[in-house]
Amino acid sequence: MEIILKNITEEIVLKKIDVLLNNIDCCKCEQCRMDIASYALNRLPAKYVATTQGTLLSRLEIFESQYNVAVTAAITQGAMVVKEHPHHGNLS
Ligand SMILES: [Zn+2]
Repeated sequence: MEIILKNITEEIVLKKIDVLLNNIDCCKCEQCRMDIASYALNRLPAKYVATTQGTLLSRLEIFESQYNVAVTAAITQGAMVVKEHPHHGNLS
């Protein structure tokens, strides 16, 4: 079995971002989505686990219920910030 190192927080943010952005009036291009994800991840605690692909999903579910509120808040906040200051057109 191959052991992989995963940041659970990152998995949850990437999993939830598309669903959450559907309900937010903001640009949904790849650049903005990744900017929002970065914003959220820089403000959330990283949670690394050494796991196998098979057990990742069940561990994800446990942490997802725990971090749901914080992740939702961070992504929503990130969407507002990126909406005000989108990357496109800016010098990067
Ligand atoms: Zn965009």
